[in-house]
Amino acid sequence: MGEEGNYSARSLREHGFIWETPFGTKESEIALSNQGGKWRLRITAASGVPHIHRQGATLALLPRPVRDESRVSHGKPIVLEDRYLLDIQVGLLKVEDGMATVTPAIYTGRSGTAADLDHLVNLQAPDRFARLERLWASMDALPDRVAETVDVHRQYVVGPDLIGLPAERSVRAVVDALEAEDVPWYIPGSDPLDALELLAGITTVIPDLPLPNEAPPDSPEIRRRLEVALRITKSRGKGHANFKKDVQRAYNFTCAFCGFKALNVPGFGRFGNDAAHILPWSQYDLDHVTNGLQLCRPHHWAFDNKILLLRADSGVYRVELNTNLTDGITDQATMGLLLEAVGVIPDERLPKPSERPSPEFIEKLYEGLEGY
Ligand SMILES: [Zn+2]
Repeated sequence: MGEEGNYSARSLREHGFIWETPFGTKESEIALSNQGGKWRLRITAASGVPHIHRQGATLALLPRPVRDESRVSHGKPIVLEDRYLLDIQVGLLKVEDGMATVTPAIYTGRSGTAADLDHLVNLQAPDRFARLERLWASMDALPDRVAETVDVHRQYVVGPDLIGLPAERSVRAVVDALEAEDVPWYIPGSDPLDALELLAGITTVIPDLPLPNEAPPDSPEIRRRLEVALRITKSRGKGHANFKKDVQRAYNFTCAFCGFKALNVPGFGRFGNDAAHILPWSQYDLDHVTNGLQLCRPHHWAFDNKILLLRADSGVYRVELNTNLTDGITDQATMGLLLEAVGVIPDERLPKPSERPSPEFIEKLYEGLEGY
């Protein structure tokens, strides 16, 4: 390690650490000391987390790593709580009054031996902080329970509190909240950032998950979750673009609620109608025609905002007005557009039975909706 480059923890012996992230500085309450001829990290206050790599993980919203080589999973996902090692190289910014100010530079996660490149991942530390900042700016798009936990973690990163055990637990809470949301492409205990970005709508690209046979040999539950995720990915076919085409074809470009047919303007294609998702794409990634509806713009808006409610009873599809939300609408034209959709959807406006909206998805969509 040269003077200008990144430093290993050993080269900073006898110094205390201050973390510097894009969000400010933070005391680590960790010092290196020499005990019986061995250099050790020494905790200097009761509130701290005793290992620099655990603090570094917490700052970057990574699950808790281990120090003990024997506990790594030898499988994928590489980053799994209590099953991976995290090597952190820090950049030394300055040394002053015996305190070293360091910035996280390179994070390497590993779930195998050091020579096992297949179980090694560069976690892109500086980029992670930029991603966290984008996530915080999009917090409103997250489900409430998830957003709350992300915000608690954010406060530890940007606020004055030390990165102690409560901060470490705040990462665990984010992981728990994601598990509770039952997001099919989130593997419990793995790095939560990709899943959060998908939920927040920052990206629509689902990262490649490991194959089920790559799961840690001793974790049948993770293998099972990977199998579920793989099935869902397969059923997506070629994904988003196909969803739109499938829905347009199945509904013959016609709004299921009112019968308005999208205009076909030579040179401009069809416009005026949308392929709408029943369960929101951002939360469920269900790009299958049975999670879709072709809707004209006003009815798409009313459906997404739960002003028009879809019901499926014994194969009969019906649209109802959510009077809880329409009481305040006095505009005749708006009410006219909404009422046009209300009633039983004629059979000829629906696709063939195997492509009709899934009653399960509809039920899930309105779970907990008052009066439904
Ligand atoms: Zn319509």
